[in-house]
Amino acid sequence: MAVPSIKPQIAPERKSLTILGSTGSIGCNTIDLIGRCPEDYRIVALTAYNSAEMLAEQARRLRPELVVIGDERRYGDLQSALAGTGIEVAAGAQALIEAAERPADWVMAAIVGAAGLAPTLAAVRRGAMVALANKETLVCAGELMMAEVTRCGATLLPVDSEHNAIFQVLEQDRRETIERIILTASGGPFREWSLAEMAGATPEQAVAHPNWDMGDKISVDSATMMNKGLELIEAHYLFAMPEPQIEVLVHPQSVVHSMVAYRDGSVLAQMGQPDMRTPIAYTLAWPRRMAVAGERLDLAAIGNLSFEAPDPGRFPTLRIARESLDAGGGAPTVLNAANEVAVEAFLAGQLGFLDIARVVENTLEAMPARPPSSITEVLELDREARRRASATVGQAAER
Ligand code: NAD
Ligand code: MG
Repeated sequence: MAVPSIKPQIAPERKSLTILGSTGSIGCNTIDLIGRCPEDYRIVALTAYNSAEMLAEQARRLRPELVVIGDERRYGDLQSALAGTGIEVAAGAQALIEAAERPADWVMAAIVGAAGLAPTLAAVRRGAMVALANKETLVCAGELMMAEVTRCGATLLPVDSEHNAIFQVLEQDRRETIERIILTASGGPFREWSLAEMAGATPEQAVAHPNWDMGDKISVDSATMMNKGLELIEAHYLFAMPEPQIEVLVHPQSVVHSMVAYRDGSVLAQMGQPDMRTPIAYTLAWPRRMAVAGERLDLAAIGNLSFEAPDPGRFPTLRIARESLDAGGGAPTVLNAANEVAVEAFLAGQLGFLDIARVVENTLEAMPARPPSSITEVLELDREARRRASATVGQAAER
């Protein structure tokens, strides 16, 4: 089993933390939790891509040793906003890696996309406890990443609500008794839309998720259901589970976050409000549980929980993701890169909603799925897939 078994640990007086992607939806939820008992934590580093004002505001409040802005053009703004504070300021891709390399007990990996791969890997390589939200990292480099986790003695704690749910109910020591894992999916904002309606879907409609408040990229992924495809691949690597043993079930209320089915017929589920602070808190306090005030699950008020099979006709992304996992090698790397390009083009108004899946599938068909044997090769494959996907986006835009 790739995820570690739970053993009692003595918590240090103050836990030292780094948040990669602190200005995003996951980053802000993490800061919300930390802000409730700031005396328990010492912040080592905060990073963002280009939201210099927000990053500076977080830094003034949380007093980290270091803040890093990915976009070097924003370095001056960040530096002047933090002048006189004594907080170290840096910029650029290499500085993001150095932020992850700084000693901290716990690192939240919450950068969106394959851009998170190098910094997340840097935290893994120093054997840190890594709370992993950045699922794209596992999709594009799952095998290599998990091998590094083992080699370096790092601890990977899944933040994605489904994987966090599975982590909570998976009997680690009785692996042979597990029949399958069941990932639940909300079905997104277009669950009941016809194909014709989906063809005209706008970015605003796609990012308006019914249950979860998330960043734009993952919101579009939820609307196409590619998010569940990425999560299927994430679950495969995280829990060393063969693809046919991972089921996907649409559950519009987002109360049951995922389930594990055992060979005696038992199915264990983890439930909770659709609030990312719950899984984040679980990883922050692991192997304990922290007290988190907030709205509680009221099943009587909800009344009914419903489940349905996903519709492969309107949501082909799940099939495409399964096929890429079965093809193995670099196919998931290609899938992830092509999807990032297509989602960005859709958000920029350059691509129709239904074209997202087409771009991904065309890119996969056009590229041989050679297995990358190093992170450098993963990054090369990622770049090549982005070039091909961008060309396909261009062709789709001309049609
Ligand atoms: P977001 O877009 O709200 O935030 C992304 C963060 O990454 C920001 O801080 C941004 O500045 C930073 N960033 C973006 N591009 C970068 C780059 N090139 N280099 C360095 N930093 C960069 O995204 P989010 O919704 O918080 O999601 C973050 C990750 O967590 C994603 O991988 C997502 O799939 C995963 N996740 C999110 C949720 C959720 O509820 N938001 C749930 C499960 C998993
Ligand atoms: Mg999820």
